[in-house]
This record gives sequence, structure tokens and C-alpha cells, in this order.
Amino acid sequence: MGLDTEYTETQRAIARFVESLASRYGRKYIRDLVSSGATFPHAMWNDIAQAGYLGMAIPEEFGGTAMSYDDVRVFFTEMGRHGLITLHFVSYFMDCLLVGAGNQAMKERYLPKLAAGEYWSFAITEPSAGTNSFRISTSAVREGSNYRINGQKVFITGFAESQKLVLVTKTDVKGTGPRKEAFTLFVIDRNAPGITCTPMNMGTHSPESQYIVFFEDVVVPEENRIGAEGAGLEILFNALNLERIVIAALALGLGEHVFAKGVAYAKDRVVFGEAIGSHQAVQHMLARAFVKLRLANLANREAAIAFDRGNDSRTVGMYANMAKLACTEAAFEAGDAAFQVHGGAGITDECDVAAILPMIRTLRVAPINNEMTLNYLGEKCLGLPKSY
Ligand SMILES: Cc1cc2nc3c(=O)[nH]c(=O)nc-3n(C[C@H](O)[C@H](O)[C@H](O)COP(=O)(O)OP(=O)(O)OC[C@H]3O[C@@H](n4cnc5c(N)ncnc54)[C@H](O)[C@@H]3O)c2cc1C
Repeated sequence: MGLDTEYTETQRAIARFVESLASRYGRKYIRDLVSSGATFPHAMWNDIAQAGYLGMAIPEEFGGTAMSYDDVRVFFTEMGRHGLITLHFVSYFMDCLLVGAGNQAMKERYLPKLAAGEYWSFAITEPSAGTNSFRISTSAVREGSNYRINGQKVFITGFAESQKLVLVTKTDVKGTGPRKEAFTLFVIDRNAPGITCTPMNMGTHSPESQYIVFFEDVVVPEENRIGAEGAGLEILFNALNLERIVIAALALGLGEHVFAKGVAYAKDRVVFGEAIGSHQAVQHMLARAFVKLRLANLANREAAIAFDRGNDSRTVGMYANMAKLACTEAAFEAGDAAFQVHGGAGITDECDVAAILPMIRTLRVAPINNEMTLNYLGEKCLGLPKSY
């Protein structure tokens, strides 16, 4: 839609890179991977890594390109705009997690590999805890200088394709200490003895797979612990703000991608003697969706800039939760409008509209459902009583 006048020179370069990437790996590439059952976009991922865009959140001394979080936002918005999405990109926030909370040895060991394209998965969700992370029961019990891990995670994106996993565990198994200090993060080898997984059947039309992962007496050395024992939640809260911004950017970009198809179709399609876009019912629906997309984009920009400024985690959290809510809702509304405008053609493979909607819809639920973003805003920003 050519309206990103606020882009810096670097961000224009990012947009040009993504455009060239899309000329090599466009929607056909993504769709072919999906129909062949592929679970990882290896070629595209490697090209992104080679160009330095997997190291955007990593300092140069650890092999990264040390760009701003606002640049990260632009990168993912542009990826979405070209319809290039997999949830593997959410792994990005683990760079941020290690940069913020990893010790020097961890940073030296892991960050250069992540910048070079190593893929890591992330596991917090459990079947009987769901959104209520305090109820997770995957335990890490200290045994000398090791931890023994037992439990189960679900919905883990790309687990089988990953080299490492960041795992959220409960170390205060008996629950004797403060609730917020019960959780600890570990870096786990994907092939560590005692780990098994099984793929889930999902309908996201994306080259990825989610897995149920089982941990049975998995032994992890303490040097794989990220941060202090019991500091897991605090570390996560900050890093998850970046996850929200990345998800908001991808959703927004995808919404714009489908929306642009709707606008083009509304100009071309003639059924009552004039283009359907000349009817106000169609035009106003599109104009309204357009406004919401642009406002949501501004909200996400504000969130990324707050992160770049080094604002405290609660302030960034306010903007990041607003942006996640605004972008995923605006994207869904715009996608739905684009589908409506296409009439029956919207469901055809040729138009490639319907295939994108399940992913946009999913982003209102995962990685955090929008009700929880509202709970955060109500409680932390408006000072209302905790509602759940
Ligand atoms: C495609 C996909 C990829 C995923 N990838 C990963 C991954 O890589 N790693 C990982 O750990 N997890 C992953 N997840 C899991 C995801 O984070 C969870 O699905 C999500 O957090 C919601 O948990 P749940 O599905 O158990 O929903 P539930 O907790 O059962 O909630 C169901 C619904 O209830 C409502 N609700 C719940 N609690 C509240 C409340 N307090 N207030 C108001 N409404 C509420 C919401 O509408 C919510 O959508 C993925 C999920 C999907 C679909």
C-alpha cells in the first residue's frame, strides 16, 4: 500500500531484502511446502540467515547484526506482507531471552549459532495448564550439578526440526516458595536421551508442525540453566514482549497481504455494471479495515520503539499487549473483508485468500490469547482488580 513513509533507510533496505526474498520464495514456495507436507522452510530460512536477518536481535560481538527492535518489527511486517509466514519465526524472541538473561558462556556458545540460522523451539504450554502457566507441572529436580526433568508439553512449534529447546520447568515442585519464583528455564538438546515427540494434526496451512513432547528422566547440566533458579517467569515476561511484537507484525503483514488482494479484486470485479468497489457497502468495509490496519501498525511501532528505548518491562508490556491485540484483530477483520469481497472466489486456491485466514485467526489465540492481553491491560495499566 506504499504508506510506510516513516521507514528509516535501514528499514527501506529491509523492505527491499524481503521483496527480493519473496521473488525467490513467494506464496508458491510456501504453498508447495505445505502441500508436500514439509515442516520447515529450509531454503528460505537459510537465505534469511545468510543475509544476517536472523541475527537482528543479537549483538555484533556474538555474530549478530545488532539492529533495533523496530527494525525487527519492520522485517516481520514485510514478511507477512508477502505472505511468507511460519510460526518458526517466533523463535526469534529466544535471542532476546539469551541476550538479556544468559551468562557470558551461554552467549558465546549459542548466539553465533542462532545468528547463523540454528533453529530453536520454545516450550511452555502443557495440556492441563493451558493459558494458566502457573499450573505447569513439568518438573526439574536438582541432583548435584544436574537437573532431572519429567513432564509433557503440547503445541510445540518445530520441535522435531529444532536443534535446541528453551524449556519452562517448575523447580519449586512442592510449592513452598513464592509462586512467581517456582519456574526455571533451561536450554535442552533436542536429541537428549529421554525426550520423545509426536506430531499434532494442525490446520494452519503453513510449512510447520506442532508437537507433543515428552520428557522422561532427562538429565540436564546446571550450566544449561538460563538465569537463576526460580527466575524463569521474570526473564520470560520481558522476552515475551518481543514475541508479542513479532506476532503482531506477522499478523498485521499477513492481514495487509490478503487485504491488498481484496482491494484489487474490488476494483476489477464487475457484476452489476460497475466494479463492486463502487458500492459503499464494499468500499466502506474496506476503508474501515484499512484504517484499523494502519492504526494497529502504529501501535506496534510504538511498542517496538518503547522496547528500543529500554523502557521498563511493564511499560513495554502495555504497548506490546495493545499492539498484539490491535494487529491480530485488525488483520482478521481485513482478511475477512477481503474474503467477503471475493465472493465465492475467496475460497479457491487460485485466489489464495482462504488459505491464509486460519493462520491470522490462530494468532488471536496463540502464542497468547487476546483475552489475556486485555486482562494485562485492565489489571496492569488501568489498575482494575485481577479478573481471573
Ligand atoms: C499454531 C500454534 C502454535 C503454538 N506454538 C507453541 C509453542 O511453540 N510453544 C508453546 O509453548 N506453546 C505453543 N502454542 C500453545 C499456545 O501458546 C496456547 O494454545 C495458548 O497459550 C492458549 O492455551 P490453550 O490452547 O491451552 O487455551 P486455554 O488455556 O484452554 O484457553 C482457551 C480459551 O479460553 C479463554 N481464556 C483462557 N483463560 C482466560 C482468562 N484468564 N481470561 C479470559 N479468557 C480466557 C481464551 O479465549 C482462550 O483462547 C501454540 C499454539 C498454536 C495453536
